[in-house]
Amino acid sequence: PQAQEQLEMQQAAKQKQLPEHKKDKARPPSPPAIIRNEKETLVFSKIGFLGEGGFARVYEAKDARNVRHAIKVINKNALKTTKNRTKLFAEIKIHKSLHHPNIVTFEECFEDEENVYMVLELCEGGSLVDLIRRRKRLTEPEARVLLIQLIGASEWMHTHQVIHRDLKLGNIFLDDEMNVKVGDFGLAALIENPGDRKKTVCGTPNYIAPEVLFDPGNGHSFEVDIWSIGVILYTLVVGKPPFQNKEIKAIYKRIRDNLYEFPAEINISNDCKSLISAMLTKDPAQRPTLREVLEHPFFTEGLMPASIPPSAHDLVPSWA
Ligand code: ADP
Repeated sequence: PQAQEQLEMQQAAKQKQLPEHKKDKARPPSPPAIIRNEKETLVFSKIGFLGEGGFARVYEAKDARNVRHAIKVINKNALKTTKNRTKLFAEIKIHKSLHHPNIVTFEECFEDEENVYMVLELCEGGSLVDLIRRRKRLTEPEARVLLIQLIGASEWMHTHQVIHRDLKLGNIFLDDEMNVKVGDFGLAALIENPGDRKKTVCGTPNYIAPEVLFDPGNGHSFEVDIWSIGVILYTLVVGKPPFQNKEIKAIYKRIRDNLYEFPAEINISNDCKSLISAMLTKDPAQRPTLREVLEHPFFTEGLMPASIPPSAHDLVPSWA
């Protein structure tokens, strides 16, 4: 909690340094201690700060029954542009339509004078970024359990015509039982007509599929998520993303040239390597489907624990 406060104070200090005309636009939301909808049918009390993203801040809050939730708060000042408004409405519309045990539940949405509030299922275990920061890298059985759940969520999205387009460690959360919860649908796209292709270049440099960058005319589709899941598997077992570089341009060049290595000092099974390289196939038409990924020996022949013990937050599980 102290660190959280510090973070909030640092943000506030940064705000003070901004010139007057920039303050409004960049001001992060500061919701009241009691967050409620107009009719007061929903009342939450803020109990902590969880983190912040693009133009949102996420707080932990409890409802009247003492059940805890995550509330994503967006200041309406950030919604003055049509672009931002359209983006947020798309995120809400898509996220609301998704119902799967491995997708963060979208519970409620309301607004007051100042802010828009999205009430979400609380993911107590933090994101996979936090986990890798603590553990450095995971064992293959752990990666297998997390990936099965991530693939289950992705298959569900894809059958419901949604491409996430920003699957990465920072958008994959864990609940208190180490179950995967996919979140942040800020870049997700709905494929309204079968066969439609998306043309917007978007994603996060380390995780972006080559066809998004190098074949924008042809557009991209569901296969971009399969590429990102390949990057995620590599990152979980190696501890850093495959195309990592200080310079974004160099990352893109390595993605274009499909240039990555498995560090010799880390023991990675051949099945794991072969699955990663299949998912990181440059041509999206040649990339395996999620079904095919699940039939790979990495899943069918490797040790598959039923779950990951919460102690794995900090320590290598004993069965690994
Ligand atoms: P982004 O950083 O991708 O814009 P968000 O704005 O969705 O992501 O979230 C910002 C931060 O808030 C996340 O990095 C995470 O630490 C935290 N967070 C978001 N959603 C949840 C949740 N459902 N449960 C717990 N923490 C969350």
